[in-house]
Amino acid sequence: MAVFDVERAADVIHDGLFAQQHRGQEGAGMVVSDGQRLQLHKGPGLVQEVFPGDRLVDLPGRLGIGHVRYSTCGGDRAQNIQPLLAECADGPWAIAHNGNLTNAAQLRRAYQQSGSIFHTTTDSEVLVHLLADPYYRSRIHRVGRALAELQGAFAFVLLTPDSILAARDPHGFKPLVLGTLGQGFVVASESCAFRPIGARYLRDIEPGELVTINRDGLASYQFAEPAAHGAQCVFELVYFARPDSLVFGHNVHQVRVRYGMRLAQEHPVEADVVIPIPDSGMSAAIGYSRASGIPLDMGFIRNHYIGRTFIMPEAGKRATGADRKLSVLPETVAGRRVVVVDDSIVRGNTARKRIALLRECGATEVHVRISCPPTRHPCFYGIDFATSEELLAAGRGVEEIRGSIGADSLGYLSEEGLLEPFGAGGPRFCRACFNGDYPVPVTDGRGKLALESGLTCESSARAAATRKGAS
Ligand code: SF4
Repeated sequence: MAVFDVERAADVIHDGLFAQQHRGQEGAGMVVSDGQRLQLHKGPGLVQEVFPGDRLVDLPGRLGIGHVRYSTCGGDRAQNIQPLLAECADGPWAIAHNGNLTNAAQLRRAYQQSGSIFHTTTDSEVLVHLLADPYYRSRIHRVGRALAELQGAFAFVLLTPDSILAARDPHGFKPLVLGTLGQGFVVASESCAFRPIGARYLRDIEPGELVTINRDGLASYQFAEPAAHGAQCVFELVYFARPDSLVFGHNVHQVRVRYGMRLAQEHPVEADVVIPIPDSGMSAAIGYSRASGIPLDMGFIRNHYIGRTFIMPEAGKRATGADRKLSVLPETVAGRRVVVVDDSIVRGNTARKRIALLRECGATEVHVRISCPPTRHPCFYGIDFATSEELLAAGRGVEEIRGSIGADSLGYLSEEGLLEPFGAGGPRFCRACFNGDYPVPVTDGRGKLALESGLTCESSARAAATRKGAS
């Protein structure tokens, strides 16, 4: 996120990052400008661990940027935590990035071959080199020219001593919203960051748009034409974003309720109770219950002291976290036919365990309903399921998946159902993880660890698969 011209920028960024903690748990950081110098503080862990209260007084200033890390490119080394801060010939720049660049390996190789040294193994660092490159430095619209070299998914915020900049790739994969705070401005991945800091949502940053904010005000220009067939990440609406956010102009909770209602029409079943997988299955379960008339109840209790397990970087931690996160309320499920509503099944192990647990607690039937189509293809744009081997649904039919997780019945939302809440004039979505139709070709760097030194693209994909295992 980024803020401009606000009292105690560090405190505001802290609160905004805290509200967006669900987007990344591995590291956090911020860079704040006092008008002349940029000061950085970052580290591994959650926002409150990296900024335990008093650290913020060391970061005076009225503008800055912040980031929470969910690694989808590059390992868990400390250098990869963002923002990245670099001293260029014309002064310092800081950048923070959400998404995955699909041509990062190619650009990185070219810069390395001409003598540049990289300090991280993230894709994001190539933008630093483009900004420092004399070719772009000398150009009008230098940042826009540099951004136009990038392919794939990106929402960037940048900081100089006296300005912030924000940009979104031409396909608009990742959300990025603009708001006002007093006389100042705020940019964030999700609008849920605005309420706690008292900011007001103004609009989305558009695909291909670069916004510059400095003491002269806000200026906007298109650094690239928006892609004819936009590709906003529908998985943000299905799972990733917080229900109280506006994503691509739509309230996430309301969209998920509609998904649940449509799911009930597409896959009705006779049952006694609908139970959500908390938290992300909650809204769709409300919709399923509303449309089916089957009462909604709490069947799983979530331990809120365990973070979001889907975005944990290692298979072992994910599996242990998922085991500990939910426990069953036998009083809800014993002797009853249960409909379990979840947002997605990615790797499948947790679904299998939860169904077994429901049966142990006395459920007589377990019917699983998923508020998106089967996840059959990897994502190369910023969600960490990078190999087909990780995906339960890859190469399997619904009946085979049902047998594998041990459910009495299984129903997925159709692709038509996924688009229904938006109508004909609605956003254009990327659905590649469901249908394999990739809006931006992926030519290199196909693994999360593709830029780790000594690894080729092919071996890095294998390394990523081995490291993650099944979860
Ligand atoms: S492949 Fe799936 S998760 Fe990745 S950007 Fe597209 S819709 Fe989102």
